[in-house]
Amino acid sequence: MTVLVRLIYASKVAAHFGPMDMHDILDKSRRNNIEAGISGLLILADGYFFQALEGDRSAVHATYARILKDSRHSSSVMLSSLEIEKRLFSGWSMGYVLSSEKNKPLFMSYSSNKYFAPLSLRAQAAESLLAEIGAHARHLGGTETAT
Ligand code: FAD
Repeated sequence: MTVLVRLIYASKVAAHFGPMDMHDILDKSRRNNIEAGISGLLILADGYFFQALEGDRSAVHATYARILKDSRHSSSVMLSSLEIEKRLFSGWSMGYVLSSEKNKPLFMSYSSNKYFAPLSLRAQAAESLLAEIGAHARHLGGTETAT
């Protein structure tokens, strides 16, 4: 039986991280995630990654275990892992949102100081930030998607 889940985590971007790394991550994510039936969203903001992975529980956890070993980030914290009825990012093998002047107020509305600090977000806040950013990205049509 398939158990559908959404896992959200945040991590610190490695100091040596560059634009080609992002290109490589998105490329591999989209290829692997299509095969594994995973959808989701990856956000890069203020030196942090914030990512949602949705799909069958075993596929999502296997992917997260692989991501944890990646030296392009560190200090990963799993913020939430919930059974879900429906995907938020259906059709997005891995959407991508980069922080910008336009969406900064949204990130900052989830922050208690002047920097976005996702490692300490509560599960509910992580879920609603994700839903808001996802809706915003769809609205602006500014997210790279590939299915
Ligand atoms: P291969 O190229 O065969 O990778 C083999 C191994 O080398 C893996 O352990 C990989 O981690 C490591 N590796 C490859 N390139 C580099 C590099 N430039 N620097 C350091 N280590 C490297 N993958 C997904 O499948 N789905 C996702 O949603 C996803 N999201 C990610 C989000 C973040 C923030 C990060 C940092 C990585 C993400 N990845 C994701 C990539 C993941 O960590 C693996 O690199 C990838 O899944 C390996 O795919 P592969 O075995 O086909 O590639």
